[in-house]
Amino acid sequence: MKYVYAFDEGRGDMKKLLGGKGANLAEMKRIGLPVPEGFTITTDACNMYYEQNENMGDELISQIKSSLSELENRTGKKLGGKDSPLLVSVRSGAYVSMPGMMDTVLNLGMNDETVKVIAKLSDDERFAMDSYRRFIQMFSDVVLGIEKYNFDNVFDDVKESKGVTQDTELSAEDLKAIIEKYKLIVFEHIQEPFPQDPQKQLLMAVEAVFSSWNNPRAKIYRQANDIAHDLGTAVNIQEMVFGNMGEDSGTGVAFTRNPSTGEKALFGEFLMNAQGEDVVAGIRTPQPVSALEKQNKKVYDEFLSTVNALEKHYKDMQDIEFTIEQGKLFFLQTRTAKRTAASAIRVAVDMVDEGLITKEEAIMRIDPSIIDKLLHPTFDPNALAKAHCITKGLPASPGAASGKVYFYSEDVVRAKNNGEKTILVRMETSPEDIEGMISSEGILTARGGMTSHAAVVARGMGKCCVAGCHDVKVSESEKIFYVGNMLFKEGDEISLDGNTGEVYKGIIPATKVEFSGHFGRLMKWADEIRAMKVRTNADTPKDAKTAVKFGAEGIGLCRTEHMFFEEDRIPIVREMILAKNIEQRQNALDKLLPIQKKDFYDMYLEMGNRPMTVRLLDPPLHEFLPHEAKDIELLASELNMEVKVLEEHIAALEEHNPMLGHRGCRLGITYPEIYQMQCKAIVEAAIDVKEKNGSEIELEIMIPLVGNKKELEILRKLAIKTLEDVFEQGQQILKYKIGTMIEVPRAALTADEIAQSADFFSFGTNDLTQMTLGFSRDDAGKFLPIYKSREIYEKDPFQSLDQTGVGELIKIATKKARNTKSDLKIGICGEHGGDPQSIQFFAKVGFDYISCSPYRVPIARIAAAQAEILSKK
Ligand code: PEP
Ligand code: MG
Repeated sequence: MKYVYAFDEGRGDMKKLLGGKGANLAEMKRIGLPVPEGFTITTDACNMYYEQNENMGDELISQIKSSLSELENRTGKKLGGKDSPLLVSVRSGAYVSMPGMMDTVLNLGMNDETVKVIAKLSDDERFAMDSYRRFIQMFSDVVLGIEKYNFDNVFDDVKESKGVTQDTELSAEDLKAIIEKYKLIVFEHIQEPFPQDPQKQLLMAVEAVFSSWNNPRAKIYRQANDIAHDLGTAVNIQEMVFGNMGEDSGTGVAFTRNPSTGEKALFGEFLMNAQGEDVVAGIRTPQPVSALEKQNKKVYDEFLSTVNALEKHYKDMQDIEFTIEQGKLFFLQTRTAKRTAASAIRVAVDMVDEGLITKEEAIMRIDPSIIDKLLHPTFDPNALAKAHCITKGLPASPGAASGKVYFYSEDVVRAKNNGEKTILVRMETSPEDIEGMISSEGILTARGGMTSHAAVVARGMGKCCVAGCHDVKVSESEKIFYVGNMLFKEGDEISLDGNTGEVYKGIIPATKVEFSGHFGRLMKWADEIRAMKVRTNADTPKDAKTAVKFGAEGIGLCRTEHMFFEEDRIPIVREMILAKNIEQRQNALDKLLPIQKKDFYDMYLEMGNRPMTVRLLDPPLHEFLPHEAKDIELLASELNMEVKVLEEHIAALEEHNPMLGHRGCRLGITYPEIYQMQCKAIVEAAIDVKEKNGSEIELEIMIPLVGNKKELEILRKLAIKTLEDVFEQGQQILKYKIGTMIEVPRAALTADEIAQSADFFSFGTNDLTQMTLGFSRDDAGKFLPIYKSREIYEKDPFQSLDQTGVGELIKIATKKARNTKSDLKIGICGEHGGDPQSIQFFAKVGFDYISCSPYRVPIARIAAAQAEILSKK
């Protein structure tokens, strides 16, 4: 098996085998960019390594060795060579980019001999020593497992004793002394000298990169980003070029467009006389890439034209790493740039306008879940005007966040588990902080630029981040920070504005972002493309309004029970439930009728000509009854009842399995007058609205929890009779549809029979999941996290449809129902209606519509368009 590919043997589309970085380097080489020479060890090799119990095996080692000698031939340099030593970088590169999660070793090939040769060749002893000490530190950290701080302490001590602040102020002699101290640290830890044989260094580094695939932070990152654990990482071995070879050398990172806003302008930073890690680590503050023009016009022009060509070639925004070695430009890496939601949308739309991609491609580029981030809050402008701004850093990742200050990842996680909102405050973040970054509302760092770890990772997560906030003096160990003489302790509240970089004292209320320009255009394209309709689940005029603003084409589920909980009606609802006989119940229902009617009236008014499916009462009745002693006493006195009698009544209504108890259509069968009242309220409200504004309302009444065709037959008749009675009394006649939810497995299996009495089906996938898996919706939280971590179910089946099980029932039901009625309208109104993966499934099965909560409507619109595009491929 071929485990190693030279860069010029690969191509951009070999990502699975060569990893993202390897495939890109090969592609860059193929299109003629100045890329340092090298080769890639495949992801297959990594997987083989794990299969062989973490053993590289002879075959792989021999392929690495022969690729190395080929590299030596091409470069005219030799690893460990006495005349012209080759130095290489060893970098991880998975199929899906995982920035900062795995390990890298630079300057490999350095040893006590080569350092001298390099000093001579570069005529810069300081540079040679600096490279060697960096190498020892990195190799020791990544390969030998000696933590970085051991070396940092030595380095800082020497700087302090020399009275210097910048690394560049240390002389070659200082660095030599540091190297000797570093070697001692290594010896103390591994009881062996620092490895001097470059070939051995190389093999050790490759193995360390393989191992880093399974380090804890990489695993957490994969979990958080839904990346499979068995992809493995490739390893790239590449000739080093040096950005720290004097003042005509430098290194930087650039984005071809603005990764925060999407604006079409080169965005990036560089540092002269530095190595790549210096830019990302945020130890020195870099200059904007535009300043390169002044530094070296020729290099800048070449950089600009190459960068433009790269974007045209890849037809997407690129994130580029470059190095200038003594005035010569090299590209070390290019990859599809991570971006904020706003930037993703703007770039996609602009690229359609620029003729680079089609509308369909633009839509396929949008991960529907990022839309959620667009709808994330910004601070309420009024509250913001009054807020106390304490300082300002870099607006590293947009959004608005408020919460309590914590300084360590584990403290953030613990606080989150206690229900607190938190802000992670650090000097600078590193991949170890990943869990804290995931769990916090926002991140504040004292150091670092726009491409620092904190900034890049936060943008990727769509999380608010203010970086490089130099006024913030953090003492992580004391869990405090100062701004001027203002002290902030763990637990104190602050707010971050990721759009401006401003930091505020206290909590600021936030408001949601409005839709605008690019977003609106993209959504319009999605609407033109998609076949499934998108409705919303809404029970209040406010939710209905929000959903319509987000593009909902109707209400797919109006849960009437939520209307029963409001203060002015709960006493009447209770009166109805506790009625001793039908007269008493009817009496209470007569009082409820005008209130329900007003509910529906307001909803119809809000929806205009858009359809609304109203579901009749569903939950078990005891949910409406009080449980606290004081509330029971109050109700007893209101109902003129003895407390004891009321308590008995309530106890009689308690159920062992309420979710499988007296609820849904079973209420309609046992207390038909409740459903009658609701139907009357619906039809009368619709008639009033039609008379008021001429809306063409077609009633849609939905019966919940049907499992047997007879239930639906009985309740359909009841509903129709109620509607017809109202029509008879007035002059108005409205069209109507009586449909049902499919949420009981028996209903799915007998969908052909049930369809006979239904004008539409709406799959209630919450209950259908509950009943198919036998997982209580209310109790599954106790065991689902373990089920997920053990991959029994990869995702929470209440959020993302269990396509294998519940999906199979849905397929059976749809097929059977359409055998009875080929044009039966079928949709879904469970939580899964807002989940992009589930939406793909519903599209495949042939649903007419999906219905989801208002804030998921835009996600559903994009996901439905993507489903349509995919179905045509
Ligand atoms: C469902 O069961 O999927 C549904 C939409 O109904 P509810 O969540 O109200 O039970
Ligand atoms: Mg349900």
